[in-house]
Amino acid sequence: MGTITESCWIDSHAHLTMFEPDEVVATLDRAADAGVVGVLIPATGPDDLERTLALGREHGSRVSIAVGTHPHDASSLDRASKQRLTRVLDEPGVVAVGEIGLDYHYMNSPREDQLQALEWQLDLALEANLPVILHNRDSWEDLESLLVRRTGLLRGVCHSFTEGPDRVRKVMKLGLYVGVSGMVTFRQAHNIREMAAAVDIDRLLVETDSPFLAPVPHRGKRNEPSFIPFVGRAVAQELGLSVDEVAAGTTANVERLFGFRPEL
Ligand SMILES: [Zn+2]
Repeated sequence: MGTITESCWIDSHAHLTMFEPDEVVATLDRAADAGVVGVLIPATGPDDLERTLALGREHGSRVSIAVGTHPHDASSLDRASKQRLTRVLDEPGVVAVGEIGLDYHYMNSPREDQLQALEWQLDLALEANLPVILHNRDSWEDLESLLVRRTGLLRGVCHSFTEGPDRVRKVMKLGLYVGVSGMVTFRQAHNIREMAAAVDIDRLLVETDSPFLAPVPHRGKRNEPSFIPFVGRAVAQELGLSVDEVAAGTTANVERLFGFRPEL
C-alpha cells in the first residue's frame, strides 16, 4: 500500500460502466498519468450493477465502487432488486450506497417511487454503516427533509452539487460532503463557482461525473477521470488555495469518507 502524496487526485464520481469494456484499462492508465490515482464508480441501477461489481473485482487497487439505484430507475427497485442490492454490499470494492437520490427535472420515475426508493436505500446504508452518494435535481426540499431526519447518523456526499451557498452550508451542517464537478469551469456557471467558494476544504470532493460534464478545455467531449485536475484547479482558484492543497485535501476526504485508499 503506497502513500498518497499531495499531487495525487481521486475522481469521486465516474461512470466507467458507460465506457466500452476494452477502454477501461487505458482510461485508468491515462488517469494515473495525470496524477489521478483512484476512481470511485457508482452504479445507477439493475442494468449496470453487475458491470460495476466486475470493475470493483478487476481493478480493486485503483477503483472503488458504490451500489444503488438512481432516481431515474427508482420504479425498478422491487423486492428482488432490493434483495440483490442488500446481498452485494459486502462484495469486493463496495464502499458506498449510490448513486441514489431524487430527480424531479427528468421525472423518469414518479415522485412517490423516487421517495420510497431513496428512503429505503438511505436506511440500507445506515444499517450497513456505509456512506451514500446523493443525486439531486430540482428536488432539494424533499431531499433535505429526508436528510434532516437522519442528521448525525448518515454519512455521504451530495454529488455534482448545483444548489446555492446557503444549501451548501446546510449540507455541511448535516455532516455531509459536497461534490464539485467540471461545471465549475464553465464560463457561464457563476452560480457553481459561487457555490464552490462556500465549501470548506475538509468537506470538499472533486469529481468528473464521466462521461458527462467534461471541464474546460475539453468541454463537449466525452469526460474521463484524467480531467480531474482541471476541476481541482478551478476549485482552488475559488477557494484561494493552492492546487496541491486542494489535491491533498480532497484525496484525504475520500479516504476519510469512503475508506478508499488506492494503491500506488
Ligand atoms: Zn452520476
